Amino acid sequence: MDSEIFHKLCESAFDFLRRSAKEIESEPKHALVSFAAGVELILKARLLHEHWSLIVVGKPDQKKFKKGDFNSVGAGDALDRLELIVGDPAPKEAIAAFNQIIKHRNSVVHFFHELEGDKFRQAAARDMCLGWMYLRALLTAWAPKFDAFKDRVRLTDTAMKKVKGFLAAVFESVKPELDSLRKKSVEIAICPSCSFEAAPVASVSGPISVQTCKVCGLSINRLSFECPECGSEHTFNGWDQFQPIQCECGEAISQEDVKKALDESDPSEGQHPNCGNCTSAGTVVWHEGMYICIECASYSETVAQCEWCSEYQLNGGDLEFSYFSGCEFCDGRGVDDD
Ligand SMILES: [Zn+2]
Ligand SMILES: [Zn+2]
Ligand SMILES: [Zn+2]
Ligand SMILES: [Zn+2]
Repeated sequence: MDSEIFHKLCESAFDFLRRSAKEIESEPKHALVSFAAGVELILKARLLHEHWSLIVVGKPDQKKFKKGDFNSVGAGDALDRLELIVGDPAPKEAIAAFNQIIKHRNSVVHFFHELEGDKFRQAAARDMCLGWMYLRALLTAWAPKFDAFKDRVRLTDTAMKKVKGFLAAVFESVKPELDSLRKKSVEIAICPSCSFEAAPVASVSGPISVQTCKVCGLSINRLSFECPECGSEHTFNGWDQFQPIQCECGEAISQEDVKKALDESDPSEGQHPNCGNCTSAGTVVWHEGMYICIECASYSETVAQCEWCSEYQLNGGDLEFSYFSGCEFCDGRGVDDD
């Protein structure tokens, strides 16, 4: 990895991100374009960290690369390469948020955006808040690669608070819709990202539901379970993940209690599957035909088995080559030794 170029790419990315937060008030269109550039540069930096040739379109030539004489991949291709070549894909929700930003950026740059004035500013603020949330999560997940930029992440966080301010207007505009849902007895949860009480809850299956914020667009799973002492219902969401809960009856509910309350798996089957989404070991239970992680509330009807360590994994993605490359929990056989 060329650390000097990596450093320059990151510096440039954070400059764009900070500038975008400054521009949201006076030049929202520029803000969205700058923000999209920042996202794209971070994705490129992640690829570059793996190998310089991954950010080159066409035939990679190291001499030309060093001089900056090459066409580089766009954000869409960078996301594809992260998944298909590096084997470290961004979560599908993050990809959806980034694609939305790219789509809106393209309409601003190449055509025109259907929204104008305050409406455009609100839409841009929404895109940027959700995009930054996922980008920040990725920068953390990609530790220690981006550790040298922790201060820049913190500064961007502060700058993005200004962008968040414009979400209050979005909240005002969706209030009537939320009120009519409440009248139909739909629960409206507080969104852990934008903090507005603006996320209608929809049931998925058994104890699993999903809440989707009408203000910032964040969609997260929720898991409900009963207090082992008094039977009253509690929930936690996949964004905050499980935290011990003090029930009103006085009972302290641990993750082990949640496991006991939900797990219907056969004890003779041995170890519980791991979760590839939150990388927790043994946190996946079997309940009413569904595998559910009691740490991050992700779920699926199936789990995949690692060909090397034989452990089962929820959200295992593609474990086709796991004999060599391993899973989230093992390194596999490896390809270099023989
Ligand atoms: Zn929200
Ligand atoms: Zn209780
Ligand atoms: Zn999990
Ligand atoms: Zn494994």
